[in-house]
Amino acid sequence: MSGALSRLQELQAQDRPTHGGRTLAYVFDSGLEEVDRLAAEAVAMYAGTNGLDPSAFPSMLIMENELVGFACDLVEAPPTAVGTVTSGGTESIMLAVQGARDARPHIRKPTMVLPATAHASFLKAAAYFGVEPVLVPVDQEFRAEVGAMAHAMSADTVLAVASAPSYAHGVVDPIAWLGAAALAKGVPLHVDACIGGWILAYAERIGRVKPAWNFSVPGVTSISVDLHKYGYTPKGASILLHRTPADRKPTYFASAAWPGYTMVNTTMQSTKPGGPLAGAWLTVQSIGHEGYLDLARSCLGAVDLIVAGVDKIEGVDLAVRPDSSLVALVADDTCDVFTIADEMAERGWYVQPQMTWHGHPPTLHLSVSAATLPLVDECLEALGESVAAAQEVGPVEVDRNILKILRSLRPEKLTDADFDALLQAAGLAGDTGVATLPKRMAQINVLLNASGPALREALLVAYLDRLFRPVRV
Ligand SMILES: *Cc1c(COP(=O)(O)O)cnc(C)c1O
Repeated sequence: MSGALSRLQELQAQDRPTHGGRTLAYVFDSGLEEVDRLAAEAVAMYAGTNGLDPSAFPSMLIMENELVGFACDLVEAPPTAVGTVTSGGTESIMLAVQGARDARPHIRKPTMVLPATAHASFLKAAAYFGVEPVLVPVDQEFRAEVGAMAHAMSADTVLAVASAPSYAHGVVDPIAWLGAAALAKGVPLHVDACIGGWILAYAERIGRVKPAWNFSVPGVTSISVDLHKYGYTPKGASILLHRTPADRKPTYFASAAWPGYTMVNTTMQSTKPGGPLAGAWLTVQSIGHEGYLDLARSCLGAVDLIVAGVDKIEGVDLAVRPDSSLVALVADDTCDVFTIADEMAERGWYVQPQMTWHGHPPTLHLSVSAATLPLVDECLEALGESVAAAQEVGPVEVDRNILKILRSLRPEKLTDADFDALLQAAGLAGDTGVATLPKRMAQINVLLNASGPALREALLVAYLDRLFRPVRV
């Protein structure tokens, strides 16, 4: 074996497993090993291709149209609907926002109306495209408030947004009502079904009540749905659907104003790798509607068991009853979620901490996969043990020295020297100007949690800046 390949294998051994059903964030596992193996082969087969020009790689055009056609079924798309395969949820959302803005060029100060629980990628799109986000508070169960959303829609609103479901809490916004409100106001409505679309589509077919969330709702003009989440495809694939070709058109970009090839792009990418598309196409072809029905049964079955199991564990509770495959847990004052997350990691389970938000306590986020079903008992046992271990040590004490430094920092004025002092105090300083990754996260998470959103952003940007430093030989 080549030296580089064996080094790559060594390096990868540090990572969280992408398969096996125990990593409950960032990755999604169908448990279908043969499909995954074939999909990886498809990715490799297409590793060198480029979707920039469908006349050079016509197979990519065919795969994309077939994938979008499959997705149309899932979102009850009208015959007029069209779609675009993108590199991920964020790109789908960025395009949806850019397209909505550019469909209304006469609006000089465009706004976008969002439930406060909308995915952060909308704020990224707002920042990139100069659209002002209008964040509308949500109700007690973290769902969008229809009246307040409607009230926020104005003549300058280029897009309203709803989640199906929201990432943080896993609840579906009242989309039927939001659609009616958006229609009445003449505002396009984007449904962010990035994480939940693929599974919500099958929830009703297996007899679970599902709120209306897709193109069956008049007023919904675009929907994003990720392949690389509950489509269980390799990473780098999502779909943005529009109700009509006219709605999609502003997302296309063309330029003949240079001496090279006339550049025509359907997405933010130009050179468009064929690997993720081929991997997604192969996965969806192999699993099919029947397969996805089974996967939805397994995944939502696992969620039911986790919900029932959490009820029996003293110290943690649901933040809200989940509408789909995402579970958010809160801890009572005997322990904190950050220690529970570390303890889960020691037991081979990766769960994702979410920070304090709008006066709500921090939570643990579980993106449950179909492959988790056979491991639910083990998961609940690990959770029970982790909560007990976290209760044993009690809530994490914030290091007073570090807290003092934090209190003195202004996010907008964070200097390199400030940050160096903080890294030193936190024991995360590497060689000069470089940071290391911590083993246990609780101490750091507690500090970030105490920092407030603006300082948290500034600290993490500074930290990433120190992590991503060139290694020169
Ligand atoms: C994951 C997610 C996104 C962003 O998708 P990426 O693929 O991570 O870029 C957007 N919205 C929701 C609700 C998501 O869960």
